[in-house]
Amino acid sequence: MYYKSTRNSSVKKSAAEAIAQGISEDGGLFIPSEIPSLSLDEIVAMGEMSYAERAAKVFAKYLTDFTDEEIKYCCESAYNDKKFATANIAELSHLFDGTYILELWHGPTCAFKDMALQILPYLLTTSAKKINLNKKIVILVATSGDTGKAALEGFKDVEGTSIMVFYPEEGVSPMQKRQMTTQDGSNVSVCAINGNFDDAQSGVKAIFTNEEVKEKLDSASMMFSSANSINWGRLAPQIVYYISAYATLVKDEEINLGDKINVVVPTGNFGNILAAYFAKKMGLPINKLICASNSNNVLTDFINTGVYDRNRKFYTTISPSMDILISSNLERLLYMLCGEDDAQIREWFGSLAKTGRYEVTDAVKAALKAEFYAGCCSDEDTEKTIKATFDKYSYTCDTHTAVAVKVYNDYRAATGDATKTVIASTASPYKFSASVLEAIDGSKPDMDEFAMVDRLCELSKYEIPESLAALKNKEIRFKESIESADMKDFVLRSLSL
Ligand SMILES: *Cc1c(COP(=O)(O)O)cnc(C)c1O
Repeated sequence: MYYKSTRNSSVKKSAAEAIAQGISEDGGLFIPSEIPSLSLDEIVAMGEMSYAERAAKVFAKYLTDFTDEEIKYCCESAYNDKKFATANIAELSHLFDGTYILELWHGPTCAFKDMALQILPYLLTTSAKKINLNKKIVILVATSGDTGKAALEGFKDVEGTSIMVFYPEEGVSPMQKRQMTTQDGSNVSVCAINGNFDDAQSGVKAIFTNEEVKEKLDSASMMFSSANSINWGRLAPQIVYYISAYATLVKDEEINLGDKINVVVPTGNFGNILAAYFAKKMGLPINKLICASNSNNVLTDFINTGVYDRNRKFYTTISPSMDILISSNLERLLYMLCGEDDAQIREWFGSLAKTGRYEVTDAVKAALKAEFYAGCCSDEDTEKTIKATFDKYSYTCDTHTAVAVKVYNDYRAATGDATKTVIASTASPYKFSASVLEAIDGSKPDMDEFAMVDRLCELSKYEIPESLAALKNKEIRFKESIESADMKDFVLRSLSL
């Protein structure tokens, strides 16, 4: 197996090259040349394995240039009970009859990004060694909250790397800010930008492509890389938990081997749900993939009409990690659905860059409808769903997960489909305490972040994640705030260049 580019099918890279490079030179995303298959026997066998062992089985199918030892090292280093609050790594929780919540937030930063960002540093440094890069890898991240912290935790003190995170001073929640500014590790730096997320993102992109900076890095044997979900090294780990959840359901006799399940995913950049699609294509018995959006419902419209149009109002919602109008991983799905026609992808994504819009062919429209159901949810309905789920099932979900629960309820009402269903839960409710408390208590909480966490604990009876509780007494290490125009100087100074 090798990796092609969605914008040039003749590209041929090993997995190690694809992961180290992050994105193809032509601007396309790396995608495996074939989809490996997964048998029902293999799924049964996984029932008896640890999460790290299950992950190793899946990675062996995609990272064919890695040795078994290398894969084992990456999986065991990432998925263990020192890094995750539960030995199961991901937990399956019973919501109501035949409906399960897949809790993907028991990692160190309490969001599902940990599932991939805990292993990415190992995949990346192993890849660099395999291709004899002999360079220090500098990770630059612009974040609106969850990715920055998860990347910091993943890369802190990882030999051969350093990481710099930029966040918008006024654009992250108090808890998210505290998570980042108290970050420990000897190879990390965090800096606030006087501007919004787009300013931070544009600043990072400009540094990535600045020739002067690139030359300076080169001469010091360093290179930039990316930790966001365009990197295959972030997508592959996400395939694992869908397969793992199915293996657990079979083992626990909740379903029979071969029974189909639905999967519901609260979606932003389309990375998480695309991983579920890969699992299905490998042979995991999945019926519908249900794509749940908040008021930024560009994907709902796209799946229902085949027209992608980002020319619309951008909403700031209570599920901020899904506030996005350009879902970059859609490019990988469309490449697969249009018969790997790279010219077609160049045309659509050229049009997206130019006009903000493209329309797919009738064949792709039909394929989208066959595989996916899409729906969206307002902030008001998100709050109502948190409250109803709490009252009816004594389950406290975060704002992102609530969007998925609401869209799933709509799907069930519209179709009557009673297929057993797994809903991906992407963040701990403690990460969005203010919104969750307001939904349950009915009024805006008038207290500080840690008092909110205590109040939420009283209500939900869920243990407060140690990593969040510890923030209260942690020293603020990173206080610097700069203009986005000064980001380049900040990077060079941090690297002593
Ligand atoms: C990133 C994120 C999402 C969106 O995931 P995508 O892979 O970008 O679709 C949803 N919920 C939370 C809490 C997130 O952090």
